[in-house]
Amino acid sequence: MDALLSSITERQTPLTETLVKLAQINSGTLNRAGVNQVGELLSKMFCARLNCHHQQHAVAASTQLRADGSAEEHRLGDLHILSKRPDAPLQVLLTGHLDTVFPADSEFQRCQWLDDQTLQGPGVSDMKGGLLVMLEALSAFEQSPLTQQLGWTVILNPDEEIGSPGSAAILAQQAQQHDLGLIYEPALPNGQLAGERKGSGNFTALFTGVAAHAGREHHLGRNAICAMAEFITAVDQLNGQRDGVTLNIGVADGGETTNQVPDQARCRFNIRTRISADEQWCQQQLQIIQQQINSKEGISLTLHGSFGRPPKQLDQAHLALFQLVTECSGLLGVPLAWESTGGCCDGNNLSAAGLPNVDTLGVQGGHIHSHSEFIRLPSLVERAQLSAMILLRLAEQPDTWRRNRM
Ligand SMILES: [Zn+2]
Repeated sequence: MDALLSSITERQTPLTETLVKLAQINSGTLNRAGVNQVGELLSKMFCARLNCHHQQHAVAASTQLRADGSAEEHRLGDLHILSKRPDAPLQVLLTGHLDTVFPADSEFQRCQWLDDQTLQGPGVSDMKGGLLVMLEALSAFEQSPLTQQLGWTVILNPDEEIGSPGSAAILAQQAQQHDLGLIYEPALPNGQLAGERKGSGNFTALFTGVAAHAGREHHLGRNAICAMAEFITAVDQLNGQRDGVTLNIGVADGGETTNQVPDQARCRFNIRTRISADEQWCQQQLQIIQQQINSKEGISLTLHGSFGRPPKQLDQAHLALFQLVTECSGLLGVPLAWESTGGCCDGNNLSAAGLPNVDTLGVQGGHIHSHSEFIRLPSLVERAQLSAMILLRLAEQPDTWRRNRM
């Protein structure tokens, strides 16, 4: 094992160089060409180093509702599936996303060294660094004498940063065919693992009123923006009413000019949940508010959206896997623990599909989703060693980790 782990140490320089190259290709979720460029580069690297099977899939488009209720469609990049030894006793699913939150016209496009161990750049931590960690760990594992015990599938998906609308179905299907999941989201800023994660849902409220001239016939108008304002206040007041549930109005728009009573308005909001029963509570509360608004003459409110990601809770199978990860990290001299977080990721999706998983096996860095995102470069090697060790330990005891797959 020692020889395998020390072979990773020698990879620091090429890993850093590749990371800079990947980070400087813009792959904001809606930049389809950029996401595809990163996907092609990476899948070629995986195939060259791991000699694995490769499939490329188109995913469903992402749709958003405009204020007038019409749908705006965005084609997403492709999803890649790389796999090896599908008949081995233990099957591990590794996932990572190709997209970042930085759009094609973002000002944040280049990498910059903050010191000799710290690199700033778009997606260096979230999660192009993690994708390289995954590749490096698998490459080391493939040199071990235990390979026949463990087969693996890697999913590189194009849309995690918008909630994986296009890749959710493939993630759920693959989850059912594997025994456990390893996901390469960045570690929490203090280096620890994320344990429980909140669930999340995105919703759109569309308001229709009656247009009228602001001066001559104001009394005949029914103001859609005012109705929306009442809705927003009522939704905001749900915060604090149920433990662990938060509701955030993120976008609001409507109307076209000041001399007309606006007949259209739209707001978009996000809800975070702690346990799955929270979803029903939220739906009931929204329904009550909706009825109040709709009881106003001339006003109509329709609600769209759903809870895309259920909360991730840690059952016995998850806890056993977390235990293994912390044991391995202890052996490597950096003992890790796990903490709960309000953030969510594809780990929620895999848990919801019944697959125990650890979802913060990527690099250590910070300020993700901001223009000062950075990575602590030595974590590329450290985290690749951790994952290589996890794979080796899993392969030593395939029967312990097998579950009843579908
Ligand atoms: Zn991420």
